[in-house]
Amino acid sequence: MDLPVDEWKSYIFQKWSLLPKSIQDTISTADTLRDIFLHSSSLLQPEDEMFLKSLSRGYLVGKDPNAPPFYREEGNKKFQKKDYMGATVLYSKGISHAKPHSADISLCYANRSAALFYLDEYEWSMFKIIPAVIWLTLNTHFEWMCLKDITRAQMHGYPESLQPKVTLRKVECLVTLGRLQEAGQTIRDLESNFAAKPSLAAAQFQILQRNLCRLKMKVQERENLTASFPATLTKAFEDMDLREENEQIPGASSSVSLCMDPLKGRYLIATKDILPGELLVKEDAFVSVLNLGERPPLHHGVESKWDTQVTNGDLYCHRCLRHTLATVPCDGCSYAKYCSHECMQQAWDLYHNRECPLGGLLLTLGIFCHIALRSTLLARFEDASKVIRKLCVEMTNKDMCSPESENLAQTPSSDLGGESEKNGKTVKTPVPGCNLNGKYENNYNAVFHLMPHTENHSPEYKFLCALSVSALCRQLETADSSKPATAPPAWCSELSTWGVAMLKHMLQLQCNAQAVTTIQQPALSGSKENSVSNSRQVRLATGIFPVVSLLNHSCSPNTSVSFISTVATIRASEKIGKGQEILHCYGPHRSRMAVAERQQKLRSQYFFDCGCPACQKEKHQAAVGPRWEAFCCDRCGAPLQGGDILSCGSTSCTEPVSRDRLIPRLQDLRQQVGQARKLFGSGQLERAIQLLLGCRHDAESFLSAEHSMVGEMEDALAQAYAALGDWQKSATHLQKSLRVVEVQHGPSSVEMGHELFKLAQLFFNGFAIPEALNTIQRAEKVLMVHYGPCNDEIQELQKMKSCLLDLPPISLGPSV
Ligand SMILES: [Zn+2]
Ligand SMILES: [Zn+2]
Ligand SMILES: [Zn+2]
Ligand SMILES: [Zn+2]
Repeated sequence: MDLPVDEWKSYIFQKWSLLPKSIQDTISTADTLRDIFLHSSSLLQPEDEMFLKSLSRGYLVGKDPNAPPFYREEGNKKFQKKDYMGATVLYSKGISHAKPHSADISLCYANRSAALFYLDEYEWSMFKIIPAVIWLTLNTHFEWMCLKDITRAQMHGYPESLQPKVTLRKVECLVTLGRLQEAGQTIRDLESNFAAKPSLAAAQFQILQRNLCRLKMKVQERENLTASFPATLTKAFEDMDLREENEQIPGASSSVSLCMDPLKGRYLIATKDILPGELLVKEDAFVSVLNLGERPPLHHGVESKWDTQVTNGDLYCHRCLRHTLATVPCDGCSYAKYCSHECMQQAWDLYHNRECPLGGLLLTLGIFCHIALRSTLLARFEDASKVIRKLCVEMTNKDMCSPESENLAQTPSSDLGGESEKNGKTVKTPVPGCNLNGKYENNYNAVFHLMPHTENHSPEYKFLCALSVSALCRQLETADSSKPATAPPAWCSELSTWGVAMLKHMLQLQCNAQAVTTIQQPALSGSKENSVSNSRQVRLATGIFPVVSLLNHSCSPNTSVSFISTVATIRASEKIGKGQEILHCYGPHRSRMAVAERQQKLRSQYFFDCGCPACQKEKHQAAVGPRWEAFCCDRCGAPLQGGDILSCGSTSCTEPVSRDRLIPRLQDLRQQVGQARKLFGSGQLERAIQLLLGCRHDAESFLSAEHSMVGEMEDALAQAYAALGDWQKSATHLQKSLRVVEVQHGPSSVEMGHELFKLAQLFFNGFAIPEALNTIQRAEKVLMVHYGPCNDEIQELQKMKSCLLDLPPISLGPSV
């Protein structure tokens, strides 16, 4: 995803291997990025570009006029099966291919409005325990989107003859949204419209009359209801800003300070004691690019078929990354979709006007290349002329590759923000990335100064990046010459300077790219689509966050990162003492990876040897694996120890076992659990449960109760029982899975928070009031540390809590 597609990668690597040694040497030993870029791009031949073009053509990124009817029909099929979520996505795909102001687009919008309308009903029925009054206000999101889609359908010329149907839907939405006056007016308009059209068939007219009558009653009912509505439910979101902003680093809290060290580079330390949950950084991405998810199969030739798969590209706004079911496509292409017209317009003005015609190429070259381009496009909106001019000069200098070491060499380290210098008012030599006042801001200057680690990348990789960027430059040039109206910004008149900047960004990204993640957690009772899948962290996008990039890595970090839209927040996940470094995890976390694997990963991707406390401790006890990977003795149940031959150490259990005999059994279990999930997916709940219970039984004889595989089975069982509505059994199994999560990730980990959230839902649905309240409290406490008060799950927990607390006392019936 991040890198170019495999075909292009292997093509370039082969080209590299066939280069004469002397040319390879010239590129490998080039001193500056400029030299690397110029040497490499002089080797890009027309046939290479042809090959790249043929790969790019494999992506369906333009508008295909034959696609909308196909997607509409497929959507209708899902609709009939009451899979409104699936239908919505397919109608969206149809919309993205349809021409503006065509029958196709208006029909797709209208159909999507219907799917959204019913989606709500469906979701609603899942929460029928909750008093309907509450859900009237909480669950109006779909009506709101439905209404928008109706307006869009009408804007794009929805056929007159079909109007009554959507207008009735519009009234329903208005009523639900509490916009009663508008609803009343729409009803009156519709009535007078029909009075003027006696041509309407009598039967149709009757149905319409009946519907109107019903809606009028609904409006009245709602009017009475709203009058007595509890005000507490409209409580505003709590503030989520930094308590006190850092003067040097806008976006960071005043509890941290920027330091610099020849070995570590730039890093942040605590200037006072920090409590768990404290917000330390809140930063909007300088740039981000949505990861479209599963790459659609490359289409070759004419027999291209439209895909019906649901990907991230269908569910998230390409600009702000918000989740949405009602996307609005770019007018010029079918692959860029947004949550709203506003987002579409902003993206267009900022970067998409240039990216739009390059869709296939950008997908072929990967996200890093895309981010490199977008960063430079965004740069021109800043007071960037200075940066760029400086850039052009620096490009020719040798030290260009490592601005940090250059500055370090010139500056005594005491000037770089050591403890003693904290009260000094002016910083004479700014830390790299800072402006002249010593401020470190989220801007192109800061991005430009992130380390590219040029000397650490392999020559082949640099060659791949340079040729990819160079091919992109040539395309940009062609696009420019064909559209003289959009003059390129002055600074890119020299295209190679632009290319060098992009190459630098591409190289920076390997170490500085930040994955923007989200938790996709289907409510246990909720969506049909993937009710089996665990709550899992999915990578939504890749971005650059200059302030977040200041943090160093630890395999056992003291912070937690989360995202809302394109904004990253970093909170302390534990107590951090004054003077301690603020650390976050680049990916290899101790609870997910063994020490050797982490070390290897950090060395190859980030070019350093991790010396975090977790690594140091585990290096010495490498023989004993973690508890969540332990086999256990089938007699005494104690964990087995040893290398290839395992034993429990007890004298009464004599037989040692070889690891090679246990591993296939584990693999077998894994396969069966996968099988059970498939059964579940096809609705065969009972069979799935039988299979899982069998697995669970097998596991007892050789896996510890805290083995991650056991946790997975318990979790799957919990979900299966939840789907059957057996909340109590479900909760019993989830509690066992919770134990495994606790051992593996720790009692206050974010993973634990998500599991507790699920458990709270189960108790809530099962009306186990004391258990529910207790679990809600625990979940809230954990999640609050990682996410703060605005998080969806926390909001949901609070709603559940107030709902339980507001329940009328249970009537015990008349006492005779
Ligand atoms: Zn958006
Ligand atoms: Zn476009
Ligand atoms: Zn480590
Ligand atoms: Zn034993």
